[in-house]
Amino acid sequence: MPGISEKLQKKLLFNPDGTRELGQQRLVGGKSTNLIEFANCKYSWAEQLYRKMRQFFWIPDEIPLGDDKRQFPKLTEYEQSAYKKTLAFLIFLDSIQVDNLGALALYITAPEVVACLKTQAFFETIHAQSYDYLLTSVVDSLTRDEVYTMWKDDSILLTRNKFITDQYQEFIDNPNEKAFIRSCMADYLLEGIYFYSGFAFFYSLGRQDKMGGTVSLIRLIQRDENTHLALFTHILRTLQEENPEWFDADIKAELLSMLKTAVDHEISWGKYVTRNQILGLSDSIIESYIKYLGNLRAEAIGLGSPYGNIKHPMPWVDTYAAMNSTKTDFFERKVTNYQKFGGSMKFDNLKPPS
Ligand code: ZN
Ligand code: ZN
Repeated sequence: MPGISEKLQKKLLFNPDGTRELGQQRLVGGKSTNLIEFANCKYSWAEQLYRKMRQFFWIPDEIPLGDDKRQFPKLTEYEQSAYKKTLAFLIFLDSIQVDNLGALALYITAPEVVACLKTQAFFETIHAQSYDYLLTSVVDSLTRDEVYTMWKDDSILLTRNKFITDQYQEFIDNPNEKAFIRSCMADYLLEGIYFYSGFAFFYSLGRQDKMGGTVSLIRLIQRDENTHLALFTHILRTLQEENPEWFDADIKAELLSMLKTAVDHEISWGKYVTRNQILGLSDSIIESYIKYLGNLRAEAIGLGSPYGNIKHPMPWVDTYAAMNSTKTDFFERKVTNYQKFGGSMKFDNLKPPS
């Protein structure tokens, strides 16, 4: 394409060559004016995702946690430990996301996609605030300190977090095409694989009528993460369509290897956190669930099905995760409400029928 560099370049904030002509626009290396113009944008998926994310706005501290505070000491030792470890993990990655999305956006020349990344960063802030709210409301201050320093005190947690942050840091330190692709892939794996055994753990508590406030927060977070996953699926696909020369056999092999590492990390983490002691979450169920997700994520970006034919081993998880689905509404009798009524929010009955 004439006038477009084959190398990844940081975009100019003021771009004298910027044009509104859609034929000149690209995800990276395009001739954007940088003006946000949803009625005239190249990537309609980004416009739709932006609207969806915005529609999902919510406020963590409007969800009551008094019952959770009373229930936490009554959880089994294993449940308490899994609760703390899972939060430690989520806090670390959601916080890091807030900063890293801005680093990627510096290279994206489609303002509608930048709008999505910035909105995502705002929602990651809400997620980080949710964990903070949980820890100040549900557990004592010593436990809170333990959870906030676990990212460096727990070697398993440290290893898996570093796998993601190394990719992010490498792109920031040495921005080039392949590092950019790897950083986007790390984001995709974080949103699409890394959170899932943790979410399933909270839903297994929800299924037993335990920690309902926490479960409500996690469901709202997962609703957002689904939009982030969709965003990075589109980003990776578009990068591939527009820059086929960047996606040689080496990088494809690398992406597949990253996916497999993420799946391995998530399985061993899931087993480590639950110790085979959480109702409905045995080691073998965790393993097939994460491999099932690994297949979905690989297929969505053209990397085949690395784990063969695997069925979803616990479809009940999806009834929790699909709370935003209005058509297949499983809350028929008591609808899940999260709507603004004169400044306050109402959030009713989050337990799907068993
Ligand atoms: Zn998040
Ligand atoms: Zn996210």
